[in-house]
Amino acid sequence: MRPVSLLILLLLAGLTSCQSSSQPEPVQYSVPTEVELFVKSFRDEAKKRNNPVSTNNLIITFGTAVGEDICGECQLENGKTPRITLNSDAFCWQQASQYERECLVFHELGHCLLTRAHKTDKFPNGAFASLMNPNDVTVYATCRYPIGNDDCDRRPRRDYYIDELFDAGTPTPAWGK
Ligand SMILES: [Zn+2]
Repeated sequence: MRPVSLLILLLLAGLTSCQSSSQPEPVQYSVPTEVELFVKSFRDEAKKRNNPVSTNNLIITFGTAVGEDICGECQLENGKTPRITLNSDAFCWQQASQYERECLVFHELGHCLLTRAHKTDKFPNGAFASLMNPNDVTVYATCRYPIGNDDCDRRPRRDYYIDELFDAGTPTPAWGK
């Protein structure tokens, strides 16, 4: 190929990619039925905290997450509908409790709708300080241990973790000290 036509091709490719990225995707909503209740719960919890979050523009699918999180992935691109992929395998979903499922969905919604990043802080008692922890061995450990443990009082802990999700400045609760 002559250098000139190569240049033209490159220019054309550049133009097309510019066009496609500047054209925003339409608002769309597609969430699997068994995930729907957690998205609704997320909206309700946001509203309770005077921090209404719209979930109108959101795509969630079951598939293979390839990001830093083992069980899920949030893809956030300018002008595009936020996309969450959840692994539906036994560990991540099939054998997970409702709390663990909620935790996973809230974690990914934290990335995609609240633009929260990972947070690895721990309390003096060793519990993760945030649902946004990405630790790979005890992934979503906040749900697997402190919230999911039948010996502990779930409700206040769940409340704390959701408070923290919507407000990262939430103070350390009494049980974390
Ligand atoms: Zn994550």
